[in-house]
Amino acid sequence: MKIAPISNELFERAQHSIPGGVNSPVRAFRAVGGNPRFMVSAKGPYMFDEDGNQYIEFINSWGPMILGHAPEMVQQAVQEAIPNSLSFGAPTRKEIEIAELIISMVPSVEKVRMVNSGTEATMSAIRVARGYTGRSKIIKFEGCYHGHGDSFLIAAGSGAITLGVPDSPGVTKGVALDTLTAPYNNLEAVKALLNANPGEVAAIILEPVAGNMGLVLPKPEFLQGLRQLCDQDGIVLIFDEVMTGFRLAPGGAQELYGVTPDMTTLGKIIGGGMPVGAYGGKKEIMDYVAPAGPVYQAGTLSGNPIAMSAGMAMLQHLHSNPSIYNQLESTTTTIVEGMKENMQKLGLNYSINQVGSMFSIFFTEQPVTDFESAKTSDTALFGRYFNAMLQRGIYLAPSQYEALFVSTAITDELVSKYLQANFEALQEAQQQ
Ligand code: PMP
Repeated sequence: MKIAPISNELFERAQHSIPGGVNSPVRAFRAVGGNPRFMVSAKGPYMFDEDGNQYIEFINSWGPMILGHAPEMVQQAVQEAIPNSLSFGAPTRKEIEIAELIISMVPSVEKVRMVNSGTEATMSAIRVARGYTGRSKIIKFEGCYHGHGDSFLIAAGSGAITLGVPDSPGVTKGVALDTLTAPYNNLEAVKALLNANPGEVAAIILEPVAGNMGLVLPKPEFLQGLRQLCDQDGIVLIFDEVMTGFRLAPGGAQELYGVTPDMTTLGKIIGGGMPVGAYGGKKEIMDYVAPAGPVYQAGTLSGNPIAMSAGMAMLQHLHSNPSIYNQLESTTTTIVEGMKENMQKLGLNYSINQVGSMFSIFFTEQPVTDFESAKTSDTALFGRYFNAMLQRGIYLAPSQYEALFVSTAITDELVSKYLQANFEALQEAQQQ
């Protein structure tokens, strides 16, 4: 049984100086109850908290740690870069090397600009798409998350499909009106939006595999259908691969599904754990970015040498070891099959989605294909399950609406531990 008096005390203290005690909302465990654990170190598959508890990791810093924590080659690259200065604010050779490597890995990327987060990448990408097309509106999908840029914090109740409603106070109605929303996997809804807004849509942006409503896979015809609609109407198709980039394949979901967007946004793995994002795409579009073109976007710390060193070491490793992706998929499939077996033994029938090294269990018996079906999950039950897993030393994302990530550090022995915990936690969560 893991108790955490020091974490509890720190959380109490943190709330006096930091809004909600955390620097990013989901870390606060509000959706699942209880207090967050304050971490001190992590190595491989394990993370250790202030109370000395050990956890097996299935969040991996929300995606970046695909090789587990503190992989040798990334740590070493950072250490080697540090003595040369932490920041120059001037160009470096490393920035060209990482750009060239990204271009060689991600099919849609012919030119790329480095930024400092996924949020910056998506905000910049839609600005460029708007500048390039001379149009104002964008289409996004319900349940997709693209960072906290104003244009993306828009809900889509069915009545609000053509009239954007701000999801968050502080997002102006004017901004909301330029964001149109459709249900994920629903091409007909996209067609209807395009018909209602002829010649006005600059970009369609989506997670090609959605990881922010729990894991939701694209239907086979969905990505291809969007590609065709964008081609017909001169719309910029943007795949937000902040989560899926370098995770589902060396070239991300676009490689896995064989659909090439016009622009791609990247984050997480690209920085090897350092704060990095990037956006890239067709030369013709990217040459609209300043100073090559008129669309302004800049960053004091963009292309930071320490971050580039970490990212480069990570990407090089993935690039030269593509068998990692089969290994990750096979580990994850064993986990998912084991969970299904557990549920069968317990007479339960919940929905599990998986692609590559990403998976989610939804506490609903219906298939989950979009945000509406994801929302049929019993989130109170998820909260009990989450806490029962945490007590058994398994660290999951503290929300039903997040995907789980498997790293290469998860061994067969840890899979067995996970599955044993999963069986007990499912049983315990049902009984409460
Ligand atoms: N896009 C996607 C698909 C994401 O999953 C996230 C973060 N989870 C973002 C954008 C935003 O990235 P960041 O948190 O680095 O700003």
